[in-house]
Amino acid sequence: MTIIDGKKIKDKILGEVKDKIEKKNLELKLAIILVGDNDASKIYVSNKEKACEYVGIKCDKYLLDSSTSQEDVINLIDKLNNDDEVTGIILQSPVPSHIDFDKCAGTIKYYKDVDGFTRDNIYNLYMNKEGLVPCTVKGIIRLLDEYKIEIEGKHVVIIGRGNIVGKPLIHAMMNRNATVTVCHSKTKNLEELCRTADILVSAVGRPNLITKEMIKEGAVVIDVGISRVDNKVVGDTSFDEIKDKCTFITPVPGGVGPMTVAMIMENLLTAEDLKNNG
Ligand code: NAP
Repeated sequence: MTIIDGKKIKDKILGEVKDKIEKKNLELKLAIILVGDNDASKIYVSNKEKACEYVGIKCDKYLLDSSTSQEDVINLIDKLNNDDEVTGIILQSPVPSHIDFDKCAGTIKYYKDVDGFTRDNIYNLYMNKEGLVPCTVKGIIRLLDEYKIEIEGKHVVIIGRGNIVGKPLIHAMMNRNATVTVCHSKTKNLEELCRTADILVSAVGRPNLITKEMIKEGAVVIDVGISRVDNKVVGDTSFDEIKDKCTFITPVPGGVGPMTVAMIMENLLTAEDLKNNG
C-alpha cells in the first residue's frame, strides 16, 4: 500500500511552474476578490498568495467589505477582465448572502477563470476541449498520473455530485476513458457499488462514510472530503481501517488538499496560453 503524498507532488509542481515562468520570462498576475470577513477564506487566500510569491506570480487582493453590493463586485470583475496585466481572477467563495456567487463568478472571462467555474469552461470540460479545469478535479487526476495509476478502462466510483468536485470529476474521468458510476445521498446500494470500484473517489464531507466493507481488495482510494472532528481535520474514509486493502490511498490532510493551490498556479499558465492562442 502506498500513501499518496499530495504535499510532495504540490512542491514538485510549484517548482515546475516557477521554472517555466523564469525560463519564459512571464509576467503573470492573479487577482483575488474576497468579500466579507470569513476566517477560513482568509486562510485559503493567504495560501494562494504564498504560492504566487513562490512561483513568481504577482497577486493583487481586493478585500471588500461585507456590505459591498453585487453590482460593485460585477463592476470590479469587469475592470479586471479588461485589464491586460491580469492573467487570472478568483472570486473567493463563500460570498455574503445578498450576493449571487454563480452570477458574479459567471462574468469572469473564460480565459481568466482559473477556478474553472464559468459556463464556457464547464462546456469545454463537457466537450473534452482545452480550457480551465476546476482545480480540485485537475489535482485528483494529476495525483493519479504522478503515481502512474491507470485511469483508462477502470471503473471509477465517485461519491458526491457537488458542483465543485463530483460533477466536474465525472467528465474529467470520462475524458480519460474511465467507466464512471456516480453515487449520492439517494443512492440505495452505496456499499455494493463502492465494492466494484477500481478507483473510489469520495467527495462528501462525512467522517467514516467509507468503511472496510466498501473497499475492493487492491482498490485506489481518493478521499476529497474535509470535516473537523475534535479540532482535527479528517476525510470521508476510515483511513486506518481501510488502508491495508488499498494499493494507493490519499491521507487527509496531505492528499488532495495541497493539490488545489498547485493547480491554480498551473491554470494561470494555461490562462496565459489561452489568452495568446485561444
Ligand atoms: P457538496 O456540494 O455539499 O456535495 C456533497 C455531496 O455528497 C452531495 O452530492 C451529496 O448528495 C453527497 N452526500 C451527502 N451525504 C451522503 C451520503 N450519506 N452518502 C452518499 N453521498 C452523500 O460538497 P462539495 O463542495 O462537493 O465538497 C465535498 C467535500 O469535499 C467537502 O467535505 C468539502 O470540504 C471537500 N472539498 C475538498 C477540497 C480539497 O481541496 N480537498 C476541495 C473542495 C471540496 P446529494 O447531491 O444527494 O445531496
